[in-house]
Amino acid sequence: AAQSAVQVFVRFRPTPSFAQEVIKLGGDGKTIDVHIKKDEKFGVVNNKRSDWSFKVNGVLTDATQEAVYSSVAKSVVSKALDGYNGTVMCYGQTGAGKTYTTTGPLKNYQHRGIIPRALQQVFKEMEERSDQSVIVRISYLEIYNESLSDLLASAPDVPASDSQMSIVDDAQGVSVKGLSVHLAGNEEQALNLFFEGETNRIIGSHILNKYSSRSHCIFTIHLESHSRTLSDAKYTVSKINLVDLAGSERLGKTGSEGQVLKEATYINKSLTFLEQAIIALADRKREHVPFRQSKLTHALKDSLGGTCSTVLVANVYGEASQVDETLSTLRFASRMKFIPVESVVMELYNP
Ligand code: ADP
Repeated sequence: AAQSAVQVFVRFRPTPSFAQEVIKLGGDGKTIDVHIKKDEKFGVVNNKRSDWSFKVNGVLTDATQEAVYSSVAKSVVSKALDGYNGTVMCYGQTGAGKTYTTTGPLKNYQHRGIIPRALQQVFKEMEERSDQSVIVRISYLEIYNESLSDLLASAPDVPASDSQMSIVDDAQGVSVKGLSVHLAGNEEQALNLFFEGETNRIIGSHILNKYSSRSHCIFTIHLESHSRTLSDAKYTVSKINLVDLAGSERLGKTGSEGQVLKEATYINKSLTFLEQAIIALADRKREHVPFRQSKLTHALKDSLGGTCSTVLVANVYGEASQVDETLSTLRFASRMKFIPVESVVMELYNP
């Protein structure tokens, strides 16, 4: 039978005005009920329904960055050191906390996000695994309007001329031609690459006159592992993709034009293709999954579903004024967990 290919967590942004009348959290830490009273008007919520119920793998409210990391990313990193690819993606409307969750505030180490914590865990576990020697490499890719850019292109060991980048996928897996991949010998070197990438992300968004929330950013930790024991010589190559997705908010039908409309169209398409790919992964054979429809799914092709660990963090607001987008994010997140209808039907009619 088909299984959910993704672990889904919902993280609420802290707020003093949580809409308790509208959003009810279950005592099991996994259920969210949304109730919209008929006499209340929150934008354009589907008016045929006023009650929704969502079941996910975990609901995170007032959670520390450390607690979030333990729930969503820790096992992905351990599995990657065992040789399995993994992906942790943050999805949600702009402002809901995707970047806070993925990277955290750059100047406050205590509240650091998933990326620096993953780097810390990788190097810590490497020390603990005495029979294994691991080479760590880092790359940082940004996808904006379906074009690729290298957030580490200006690092010292790279010639600054790579403007031609493309996604290549072959027997070795998926790689990005032209994307720089940097050796990190220890946690400090890895963190410096991360900071370098973050700086370039901010500078790039100023140059292109865009908000960073309009692009997808994929921080990848590439692991090449040799087992040291003679009896069991094992060699594995794996990667961990930590993804800060572009803001999922729908723009109003009127008023958006030019660059804003173009960005919104690219984002909506790529997030829809991401959803389609993940749903297809739960249902069909890998070959039929439509990965190539967008750069985002193509880049993540070998790190979603199957034996890979795939985690979606849905970042949401708890305020009543944002319930439209919160509902939209929760619906996206829960669709990832549903067994596709077709496969259920097939089981019913196949004796
Ligand atoms: P997004 O990346 O989804 O657009 P951000 O991560 O930039 O949103 O968050 C928007 C603002 O809210 C930032 O100032 C961020 O520091 C703050 N913020 C988001 N989530 C949290 C949280 N869990 N705790 C404290 N501050 C948060």
